[in-house]
Amino acid sequence: MNAKGFICPRTVTACVWWRYNMPRTSDMTGNHPTIPCYGCGALVPNEDGPDHSYIGASPGCWAVYGEVLARASADPAWGDDQLLILNSYCAQHPGTPGPQATQSVCVHLIGLHVALEWGYDSSRVLAALRRAADGSHRFRWLSPPAGRYGATILDVRDASDPAAHRAAARAMAETTWAAWVAHRAQVAAWAAAVGLRT
Ligand SMILES: [Zn+2]
Repeated sequence: MNAKGFICPRTVTACVWWRYNMPRTSDMTGNHPTIPCYGCGALVPNEDGPDHSYIGASPGCWAVYGEVLARASADPAWGDDQLLILNSYCAQHPGTPGPQATQSVCVHLIGLHVALEWGYDSSRVLAALRRAADGSHRFRWLSPPAGRYGATILDVRDASDPAAHRAAARAMAETTWAAWVAHRAQVAAWAAAVGLRT
């Protein structure tokens, strides 16, 4: 994690690299009609652009996440709860079954579990992510919840001040964890299996 509170792209599962400032296309008016993100279901700009190799987000949603990261990078006042947002975002965008996607989703669900149920602070969550993602643990694909999420990266992006930002990040995390509740016991078992304790 750097001074701004972000995880280095080569740390944990490399889920945090971003290319939010890459060129995007637009229609003749410069507007981007919205579409539901195929990961979280949020209505995001329908645009071409970069996405992630295994995080299952529409380019417009990925760009919104980039905006959130950029704001936090520019002003530490907006930098709280970046791990909570990261874990929520990756869980909301599981992609399709595959070695990287499977490991990523499970690692970030473990991150949500220890933060929300075991009360880990950000430094302990970061250590937990590193331990879960150290390559010595193999997880299996968990069927993602159906439907759209009630709190997404759009709510975090639209927060009017840092306090609202923290509240939106918390709501996104709680909404995400609640949606994955069917796998709660499995995730808790994995957390214990990798050596994490309350
Ligand atoms: Zn999305």
